[in-house]
Amino acid sequence: MVVKLGVIGTGAIGRDHMRRCHRVLAGARVVGVNDVDGAVARSALASLDIDAQVFVSPHELIASRDVDAIVVASWGTTHEEFVLAAIEAAKPVFCEKPLAVTAQGCRRVVDAEVARGRRLVQVGFMRPFDAGYIALKKTLDGNQIGTPLIAHCTHRNVSVPPGFSDAILVTEMLSHEVDVLRWLLNDEFVSAQVVFPRRTANAPAPLRDPQVVLLKTAKGVRVDVELFAHARYGYDIRCEIVGEFGVAELPDPPSVLLRSEARRSNALLVDWKDRFVDAYDAELRAFIDQAATGSASGPSAWDGYAAAMACDAAIGSQATLEITPIPVPLRPALYQTKRSEA
Ligand code: NAP
Repeated sequence: MVVKLGVIGTGAIGRDHMRRCHRVLAGARVVGVNDVDGAVARSALASLDIDAQVFVSPHELIASRDVDAIVVASWGTTHEEFVLAAIEAAKPVFCEKPLAVTAQGCRRVVDAEVARGRRLVQVGFMRPFDAGYIALKKTLDGNQIGTPLIAHCTHRNVSVPPGFSDAILVTEMLSHEVDVLRWLLNDEFVSAQVVFPRRTANAPAPLRDPQVVLLKTAKGVRVDVELFAHARYGYDIRCEIVGEFGVAELPDPPSVLLRSEARRSNALLVDWKDRFVDAYDAELRAFIDQAATGSASGPSAWDGYAAAMACDAAIGSQATLEITPIPVPLRPALYQTKRSEA
């Protein structure tokens, strides 16, 4: 079966997902697109040489009988509305993170999916599909460093688009860390506190950049996450887990060791699309395979909700600088099964 996809939002990642669905992955094709700017949608189709319908309304796209499954890649503030509409239409939906911009919004999606009685939502948390993170997970699950005690994480971008606020920095960057750490550690976060180091002159005011988020899990693991949106030198994602008798580190992406001009060096990546290109392929492959059966797997609406609760607490702490509790609500039966993306 070929899954007929409708894509909402044909900007950077929407376009990249359209490319992979047509050029890289088997089993799906894009039959419809929508963007607030119709010209952007048409130019995305033209640049990828895809013949598909441009829908003026995202809701018409979701309801269309020609569309089997939806990819939501518009701005985060629109996600909740489109995902709820897809659930209402009983269509599998791949939603880029964040699932919604608040935990309350994510909860509405969870409740709608639970009421439907089956998984329809996959959230675009791609790190659990990355070979390096999968290797790290196997190391932890294989008890090669003993019980995890501490995690040190770093999320550095070259720069981010104008308009990033302190809160957006958290929802855009911290959400990935929270999701992958919940999966790696098989644990839930219970508190968050933000501390502000000296501010870089490279960030446009009033953004406070970098920020350090200190998190605690239910099992007592302490996690520090450096979020640095204007690090200039490269796109650098690092994760080190300290265990009872060893330390496990996320491998760097492969890079040729160069000896030249009296230096020994490795090039660093600068574009997020390159860092996780294989993981994006794998998450979309999982979505397409599952959508062919009329449902979804991988990071769930519940995982999106958990990430949003941690982000909300961190955003609260940006104002008070205090340790802010993260609720850990009861998990509905629909989300009891272990994540199987690795
Ligand atoms: P982008 O380049 O700005 O693309 C978003 C596109 O959606 C733009 O063309 C935008 O139009 C359009 N759009 C906005 N509101 C819409 C609406 N109501 N209906 C239809 N289209 C709408 O942004 P992006 O970088 O692709 O990010 C999109 C989403 O993907 C964000 O939520 C982001 O967090 C997520 N993302 C995830 C990853 C990841 O690693 N998983 C990486 C990048 C992005 P305008 O430009 O006219 O506003």
